[in-house]
Amino acid sequence: MKINEIFSSLGLDESLTQGGDLPVTSPIDGAVIANVKMHSSAEIEQKIDSAQRAFKQWRNVPAPRRGELIRLFGNILRDKKEALGALVSLECGKIFQEGMGEVQEMIDICDLAVGQSRQLFGLNIASERPSHKMREFWQPLGPVGVISAFNFPVAVWSWNTAMAVVCGDSVLWKPSEKTPLTALACQNIFAQAMEEFGDDAPQDLVQLIIGEKAAGEQMVASKKMPLISATGSSAMGRIVGTQVAQRFGRSLLELGGNNAIIVAPSADLSIAFQGIFFGSVGTCGQRCTTTRRIFVHDSVYDELVPQLKSAYSKVKIGNPLDENALVGPLIDKDSFDNMQKALELAKENGGEIIGGERTLQDQYPDAYYVKPALVEMTGDVNNVKEETFAPILYVFKYSDLDEAIERQNDVPQGLSSAIFTKDVLEAEIFTSECGSDCGIANVNIGTSGAEIGGAFGGEKETGGGRESGSDAWKVYMRRMTSTLNYSKELPLAQGIKFDLSDL
Ligand code: NAD
Repeated sequence: MKINEIFSSLGLDESLTQGGDLPVTSPIDGAVIANVKMHSSAEIEQKIDSAQRAFKQWRNVPAPRRGELIRLFGNILRDKKEALGALVSLECGKIFQEGMGEVQEMIDICDLAVGQSRQLFGLNIASERPSHKMREFWQPLGPVGVISAFNFPVAVWSWNTAMAVVCGDSVLWKPSEKTPLTALACQNIFAQAMEEFGDDAPQDLVQLIIGEKAAGEQMVASKKMPLISATGSSAMGRIVGTQVAQRFGRSLLELGGNNAIIVAPSADLSIAFQGIFFGSVGTCGQRCTTTRRIFVHDSVYDELVPQLKSAYSKVKIGNPLDENALVGPLIDKDSFDNMQKALELAKENGGEIIGGERTLQDQYPDAYYVKPALVEMTGDVNNVKEETFAPILYVFKYSDLDEAIERQNDVPQGLSSAIFTKDVLEAEIFTSECGSDCGIANVNIGTSGAEIGGAFGGEKETGGGRESGSDAWKVYMRRMTSTLNYSKELPLAQGIKFDLSDL
C-alpha cells in the first residue's frame, strides 16, 4: 500500500495531515510524512470539560448497549486492519506483520470488552445482621485519561478505551508525540462506529489530544480526571504516578521492563532459540516485553549461544513494509545514541559484542537501522539493570537455578520473564512464591507477545498496573458497598448497643 492509499483509507485528509505545528517523521526513511496540529492548553481544558459532560450522559446507557458500540468499533477495525497495520509500520517502524498483529490485538480486546459489558458483576455478601443484605456494585468511574508510548501506538489505547467505554466512562487520549497519525486514524474509525451506533452515545465520548509532554501534564494535573492510565518509561511514570497520587487520583502505570529468560539444562533448545530470537530482535528491541537478558545453564551454553550468534548475523534488516524484513528501524537518533552508549559500557565491563552497528545508511541516510546486538557477559558483571530501548541481548551463564532466579529478579523492573525447561519441578519453582517476581512468568514460551485474556502489567518500576483481561476492568470502575435492611429493627454492626429508649 502506498502512503496516500493508507491515508485515504483511514480518513487522513489534508485538513488533518497538513499545515500543523507537529512534524511527523517516518522512522523508515526519516522523511516528514505529515504536519499535524497540536491542541492548545485552552482546547485541552475544553476537552476535559466535555469528557465530564459525556461521562454524565454515557453512564446512564445500559452496559450491554455500551458493549454494542465496541462491537461496531471492532467490526470496522476488521475492515481497516491492513491499512491501520501499514500506518503503524510507517509511523513507528515495526514490521507489517507486527503492525497487523497490533491491530488484531485491538480487535481481540473489543471482543473481550463486548462480553465483559454483560458481566460487570459485583457480589452478594453475607450480612451479620438479621434481615439485611450486603452487596457490592461496580459503578462507572468518570473520564479516563490515557497516555501512550510510541511503540504500541494503537493497541494500548484500545485496551484502555474498549474497557473504559463498556464500564461507562469517557476517554481522553494523549498519544506519543512521535505517533499522532495512528491516533488520528483511530479517532476516525471510532467516529465511524459512533455514527453507526446512534445518538445515545455523546459526541465527545472518546477524544484525542495532540501534543507533547506538556499536554499530558495538563491532563495529569486535572482533578476532573479520576483515572490516568499511563504507558511509557519508568521515568515518566515516576512523575505521573506522584502527581496523580498528590490529588488522590487513581493511576494505572504500565512502564519499562528488563525481561529475562532462563534456559535450563532440560530445555527444548529449538523452541528456546525461537522464543529468545523473536523476543530479542522483534520490533527492533522496542517492546516493553523485549527479551533483554538470558541466563543459560552452562551445560547447554555452547549449543545454544553459537546458534543465536549465527542467527543474529544473518537476520534480515530492512524496510518494515518489505515482507522479507524481520527487523525494522529504531524510532530515532536518540534511540540509536542510547544503544551505542549501552554497548560502550558493556564493552568497558568486558562484554563480547556481536552486531550493534548502524546499517543501511547509504539507502536511508536519515533513518536508524541497526544490527541487533548480542553481548556475552563473560567478565565480573553478572547482571544488567537498565532498560535500553533497543535490540541488545545480554547473555549470562548460570549453574544453579535459585541463583539464576535471584539474578533475574535483581533489577528495578518487574514486567515479563520466562523459563525454558522440561523439568516440572523447575517450572513450578519458577512460577511459585519464591520464583519470578514479575507480572508475567511464562514457561516454554518467550517474554513477549501476551494474549488479551490475561491481565497485563508488571511490578516494581514497571508500575504495578494491570490492563486487558482477567479482572482488569475493575480499575475503570468505582466499587460501592451497599447494605440494605428489610427488617423493622435497626441492629448495629459488631453488636454495638446504642440505647435510645430514654430519649
Ligand atoms: P516516554 O516515557 O518517553 O513517553 C510516553 C508518553 O508519556 C508520551 O505520550 C509522552 O508524551 C508522555 N509523557 C512524558 N512525560 C510526561 C509527563 N511528565 N506527564 C505526562 N505525560 C508525559 O516513553 P516512550 O519512549 O514513548 O516509550 C518507551 C517506554 O515505554 C519504554 O520504557 C517501554 O518499556 C515503555 N512501555 C511500557 C509498556 C507496558 O505496557 N509496560 C508498553 C509500551 C511501552
